[in-house]
Amino acid sequence: MWNAFKSVVWAIPKGMSITFRHIFRKKTTQQYPEERPVFEARFRGLHYLTRYADGAERCVCCGLCAAACPADAIYMEPAENETGERFAKVYEINEIRCIFCGMCEEACPEEAVFLGQEFEFSAGSRGDFIYTKEMLLANFDNIEKERVARKYKPFIRQEKFQFKKPAEDLH
Ligand code: SF4
Ligand code: SF4
Repeated sequence: MWNAFKSVVWAIPKGMSITFRHIFRKKTTQQYPEERPVFEARFRGLHYLTRYADGAERCVCCGLCAAACPADAIYMEPAENETGERFAKVYEINEIRCIFCGMCEEACPEEAVFLGQEFEFSAGSRGDFIYTKEMLLANFDNIEKERVARKYKPFIRQEKFQFKKPAEDLH
């Protein structure tokens, strides 16, 4: 009886001392969603497809990202424009199948597909998780707007590679 009484009486000041100690310390609780969490740079969230500085799409629909994807989450159909350049007529990522491993961005030779920091993309139906090319490019446009606003350095090369014919090197 005495032991039970002692532990209750002792527990109250002990608990309150911990409370008072932490009142004046720096808060570690994040008030989400009012405060958005800041993730490490290596965090892999929602995908985006990138553009060159002139707005042209970087993806050439080579299929390497789809081949590297262990979840079979990427689908694409190629086409050629009037100058014979290859582009993705259809490019889709199924964000439900995706396991956010990052293999697609590692495989891409064009720096065209990346996984960003966006994690709030819940939806009401399974179909809404199929991200089309237009949606993935729009994700990039939003990221770029933020980067420009914050004066961050570009993280991808801004222009297309300028390939020369071997004969041009002789001049
Ligand atoms: S992150 Fe991984 S699973 Fe998701 S689309 Fe890319 S390669 Fe596939
Ligand atoms: S995103 Fe990159 S790897 Fe995938 S098809 Fe386009 S250019 Fe090829």
